[in-house]
Amino acid sequence: MKKILVTGGAGFLGAHLCERLLAADAEVTCLDNYFTGNPRNIAALQSSNRFRVVEQSVVEPFDGEFDEIYNLACPASPVHYQMDPVYTFETSILGTINILRLAERTGAKVLQASTSEVYGDPHVHPQPETYWGNVNTIGIRSCYDEGKRGAETCLYDYQRSRGVNVRVARIFNTYGPGMHPEDGRVVSNFIIQALKGEDITIYGDGGQTRSFCYRDDLIEAMIRLMNAPDHVSFPVNIGNPGEFTILELAEIVLEETGSRSKLVNMPLPEDDPMQRCPDISRAKEYLDWEPQVPLREGLRRTIDYFRKVI
Ligand code: NAD
Ligand code: UDP
Repeated sequence: MKKILVTGGAGFLGAHLCERLLAADAEVTCLDNYFTGNPRNIAALQSSNRFRVVEQSVVEPFDGEFDEIYNLACPASPVHYQMDPVYTFETSILGTINILRLAERTGAKVLQASTSEVYGDPHVHPQPETYWGNVNTIGIRSCYDEGKRGAETCLYDYQRSRGVNVRVARIFNTYGPGMHPEDGRVVSNFIIQALKGEDITIYGDGGQTRSFCYRDDLIEAMIRLMNAPDHVSFPVNIGNPGEFTILELAEIVLEETGSRSKLVNMPLPEDDPMQRCPDISRAKEYLDWEPQVPLREGLRRTIDYFRKVI
């Protein structure tokens, strides 16, 4: 039976990952300090005797014997990661170093939840993994972007100099059931605003683009990446290449909810990337993966979820 550690396992993606790993008969330890996660997300998993929860920050050293570690601990919504930027940076860098030390000692394989934010406001479109990115080192998003970039550096230095087996998933905007109603990211904001009949808050003119991946597609790719042969240790983009403007997203949410909410424009946050779309050639070639759930279908499932929780 595989022993697996999931840091950030009580968050939106982490909880679903824990569920999938338990369903595949693994023994799963969830390490989380509930900064943005919630015990409710993992309550149903507690009935399994193969599931263990450790309430702790990934920044503190942690011991145990594991075959695999999925390192997801880090606030992911701009609203959350900008609340305490020093905390975010420490979580990314010190947390990843802790995990790598544990992996070096135990021989565990590490998969890092990296991000499309390593590409910043990209000048290359769509973004292949070979693009080095365009990131402001000192802006309000830098704690997250540079934290994740620095974490990638740590992973490959530990791989080259200390033989740790690493995997890097560069995750593009992912949404789905299980998102926190106060998450603050665009999909949850728009759905909740639409369901409550409140104004839909379009930041800027809404012409900026994002590519939205459904949660289950993303988790499937992460598990495939962890289990891919050892030569697949380079970064792999995971996302849905369907690209939409934020205005288009708002219109689809209005259609799918049947809401009559009005669209209102708000100021565009500093350093907000203008376009984002993954080149998923590597995921297709090495993981035999591509997303299965189109945006409208994923939104319908997410709208059903939010109808129940708000
Ligand atoms: P989330 O905020 O729901 O989950 C993050 C989890 O990490 C939470 O349970 C939180 O409590 C925990 N956490 C935060 N700081 C911690 C610390 N110091 N120690 C232990 N636990 C800590 O976000 P999510 O969307 O589930 O994202 C999970 C991971 O995937 C993050 O690393 C994020 O950067 C990455 N990612 C997500 C997306 C996305 O669109 N969802 C995109 C790119 C990357
Ligand atoms: N956004 C928006 N209204 C909102 C929340 C976000 O217009 O209520 C925009 C935001 O400015 C960005 C895009 O939607 O251009 C995606 O934002 P999100 O916070 O979901 O993630 P990001 O990709 O910026 O990390």
